[in-house]
Amino acid sequence: MRVGVLALQGAFAEHVAKLKACGIDAFEIRQLSDISRSFDGIVLPGGESTVMKKLLHELGLFKPIKKLISEGLPVLATCAGMILLAKELEGGESSCFGTMDVTVKRNAYGRQPGSFRCVDKFNGVFVEMPFIRAPYVTKAGKGVDILSVHENRIVAIRQKNQIAAAFHPELTDNDTVYKYFVGIMEARR
Ligand code: GLN
Repeated sequence: MRVGVLALQGAFAEHVAKLKACGIDAFEIRQLSDISRSFDGIVLPGGESTVMKKLLHELGLFKPIKKLISEGLPVLATCAGMILLAKELEGGESSCFGTMDVTVKRNAYGRQPGSFRCVDKFNGVFVEMPFIRAPYVTKAGKGVDILSVHENRIVAIRQKNQIAAAFHPELTDNDTVYKYFVGIMEARR
């Protein structure tokens, strides 16, 4: 099983390490030629969504990745990655891929005290959740499954082949979120 990790900016190295520790062949996606090989899933990491969005367009990666996701390629998106997938952003900012039927609020916990760790459920299993200037979901469409709610806020979701978490599972010792992602990739094979 092979997974490409978008490696333009942000916390991609942690995802690569985590995937490898789970026995998955992970590689970095830095340019168009990197996605010419076949792979079973893609990770959109945390970082700065505005920077990633700009680079996706500049490098010609936006259209082919959007096409792959729309055709059913399994995606695991964390933090800024969730922002890239959202159909709408609070405040009217323009969206990026827009393939998940949700509205997301960026930097939703405020700037300074906006980073914290907690333990809460992901798909019914307690996991550690590091939040770093995280977004949360303010509106979810009918086809969206809610995987995590923390303090009444939706922080992890799934829509068919796409999973998005507002927190950073790559910064914990827990593999629950990755195992869930692997399950989606296995089901598609
Ligand atoms: N605040 C970032 C953004 O808006 C997301 C933060 C993160 O990915 N840790 O893109």
